[in-house]
Amino acid sequence: MAVTADLSAPASHSRPYRLAYRGARPEPTSVSVGDVRFGADSVAVIAGPCSVESRDQILETARAVRAAGARILRGGAFKPRTSPYDFQGLGREGLELLAEAREETGLLVVTEVMDSLDVDLVARYADVLQIGSRNMSAFRLLQNVAETGKPILLKRGYQATIREWLLSAEYVLAHGNDRVILCERGIRTFDAEFTRNTLDLNAVPVLKQETHLPVIVDPSHGTGRADLVATMSRAALAAGADGLIVEVHRDPAAALSDARQALTSDAFADLMDDLRGLSRYLGRPIG
Ligand code: PEP
Ligand code: MN
Repeated sequence: MAVTADLSAPASHSRPYRLAYRGARPEPTSVSVGDVRFGADSVAVIAGPCSVESRDQILETARAVRAAGARILRGGAFKPRTSPYDFQGLGREGLELLAEAREETGLLVVTEVMDSLDVDLVARYADVLQIGSRNMSAFRLLQNVAETGKPILLKRGYQATIREWLLSAEYVLAHGNDRVILCERGIRTFDAEFTRNTLDLNAVPVLKQETHLPVIVDPSHGTGRADLVATMSRAALAAGADGLIVEVHRDPAAALSDARQALTSDAFADLMDDLRGLSRYLGRPIG
């Protein structure tokens, strides 16, 4: 008797992420942020600086990314820095500047919340709460952000397996909030000589099978190199990503964080032109 193996199945069939699991909800979940939808017929692009640095910087960048076709502005006000001596973000002032940029441009705002103590404050300003890679497994924080009812951009822990990541999403879902957008941002592997992280694009089609939640890709942290961002953005869309989050700075060399991976505003506009063609070809226009 012929034995046939289901090669698409994972080694373990256990899916403890029962709410995130696609088997429980076969139709994709689309997460709406204002009139932007993740996981629907179009792909959405988030762009902006790694950190909010000044009023001029964030307003100028917001105008530029808006003009190029981004729908959501990113910018960190609370920054998870490896060294305590590095720029930690402007905190509340940064949130106020993001709100001003939203007011002026109409862009919605995503920003990171690092600590449960700051959830109420950040939720007063942000349209989407970002959980950073270093906090993917901060389970109390996940529960606290879930309670805001806001969409949660859940970045993959740089040392996390896809299963662990889905279980972190499950913490948010199990706490009554199903507005979770997963973000692949690269994992730490043995080879960091040429790239900051290894962007795991395998995760995109795997997640499309395993979960109904939308998945976006961060080619900026995924590579750590501005010169690789366009190529990996195209690859992410071709792999089926529901969107991208891209770092843009008006003067990358002067950026207070992640200088080497930021695109100039012009390079971002060129990328968007390029992606518009590709996304039409893929049947999911940039929306
Ligand atoms: C960021 O988005 O600037 C950031 C710190 O990302 P990550 O948590 O993926 O490192
Ligand atoms: Mn960054």
